Amino acid sequence: MSDRITLLNHLPITDSKQIIYWMSHDQRVWDNHALLAAAQLAVESENKLRVVFCLNEKFPGANLRSFDFMLRGLEQVAQGLSELGIRFELLRGEPSVEVVRYLKANDCAALFSDFDPLRVKRQWKEEVNREIRIAHYEVDAHNIVPCRVASQKQEYGAYTFRPKINRLLPFYLHDLPELLVQEELLKRVGEGGAAKVFSTKALLDEMQLDRTVSALSLPSGEAAAREAMRNFVSGKLTGYDELRNLPELDHQSDLSPYLHFGQLSAQRLALEVEQADVPVNDRAAFLEQLIVRRELSDNFCYYNTSYDQWEGAPAWAKETLLHHAADEREYLYELSQFENVETHDPLWNAAQVQLLRSGKIHGYMRMYWAKKILEWTPSPQEALQIAIYLNDKYAIDGRDPNGYVGCQWAICGVHDRPWTTRPVFGKIRFMNDKGCKRKFDVGKYIGMWRR
Ligand SMILES: Cc1cc2nc3c(=O)[nH]c(=O)nc-3n(C[C@H](O)[C@H](O)[C@H](O)COP(=O)(O)OP(=O)(O)OC[C@H]3O[C@@H](n4cnc5c(N)ncnc54)[C@H](O)[C@@H]3O)c2cc1C
Repeated sequence: MSDRITLLNHLPITDSKQIIYWMSHDQRVWDNHALLAAAQLAVESENKLRVVFCLNEKFPGANLRSFDFMLRGLEQVAQGLSELGIRFELLRGEPSVEVVRYLKANDCAALFSDFDPLRVKRQWKEEVNREIRIAHYEVDAHNIVPCRVASQKQEYGAYTFRPKINRLLPFYLHDLPELLVQEELLKRVGEGGAAKVFSTKALLDEMQLDRTVSALSLPSGEAAAREAMRNFVSGKLTGYDELRNLPELDHQSDLSPYLHFGQLSAQRLALEVEQADVPVNDRAAFLEQLIVRRELSDNFCYYNTSYDQWEGAPAWAKETLLHHAADEREYLYELSQFENVETHDPLWNAAQVQLLRSGKIHGYMRMYWAKKILEWTPSPQEALQIAIYLNDKYAIDGRDPNGYVGCQWAICGVHDRPWTTRPVFGKIRFMNDKGCKRKFDVGKYIGMWRR
């Protein structure tokens, strides 16, 4: 078996009728190594394949905005699988109960799931594993170089991770079967029959959700993700290197929501970018973010169990931040003041408005936004909590390893190095509005995101 696949429980494949793929992180039909691995086993063992998704209303930090986006995408997954003859079931409740119940009721030979380094998903899998007696395979369909293969330890930074990734990339970047081959395989393992369609609106209406965070009009699902990818590769990829850090131009890909929900395969995106007829520096700058930085985030969260807590920060950063914890702050705000856009700084407020309204802050402004939270709160511990809370609650790409690492990088020096000492920040890299004014048209950005 490929080294994307890890057997989580040392149990055998049994002599039953169904192979189940418990979809969670990778919410797509195409270019999904977990679905393909499950289908491959179904073919080899002459079984049928079914796909389940377990909808858990209590998912930490999730709300109307994130559930609406996710369910609109899952509706397309259900439809796409049905066109291939594969049954899709939307279960509801705790996976430790519902997935287990489903496996027991459906005469299952083996379980496949997709890799996710975050705590809640790992706990779900441990709970399910305690209850089942069939093989449970986990497939890394998210990273181009599987997380466990890329490195066996927490990396210090991009400078230690990059050489490892670059050495392995030639072996993994190209291991995605052609779409026609995928289709042929998937068509062999379905049972046929009509799709069990669900309506996002009806489901949302009956779910117990935090409805204070509004849904977005952003198109969701695999088709929208592929279209956004094609538009980016034929458009803003050219000039990405030079223009991506100018927040008033918005010259990034804006693909992070699709990558976060697994509606788009990072591997497919990397292949498209690799083949694009664009200047080499644009291609290289984008692949650095998509592969090295993104997969480094998974490395951090997989190997550091305190990835979203102060305890997860490097020793040098904790030492310098604590040394400066009592430094006088020019401004101090509480969570509600940050959340309600009530700081003195129009630039910070614009970033917060962008987050509330569009579900995302421009990548460059995300750094400024988090660093100012450090500067204007009584302690670095509180700053980290506030940044993660707001990012997880309002960002459509939040609750993601990139978000935890982004906040840890900005506030607690993760993957960074010590810089010149400053009040409050200690040796943590500093940013201020004067620097922003030198770099980009701050007035224009503020004008775009007024309250
Ligand atoms: C405080 C803070 C919070 C952040 N929160 C999130 C978050 O919740 N979710 C999220 O996906 N990213 C987060 N990031 C990382 C980065 O800012 C976003 O990935 C990026 O802005 C997403 O927009 P894009 O898809 O247009 O990026 P592009 O510039 O087009 O990049 C393409 C892809 O590369 C990856 N990428 C880009 N920059 C980074 C980075 N610095 N670290 C890791 N991967 C990167 C992402 O998958 C991104 O979608 C955060 C960064 C900071 C400093």
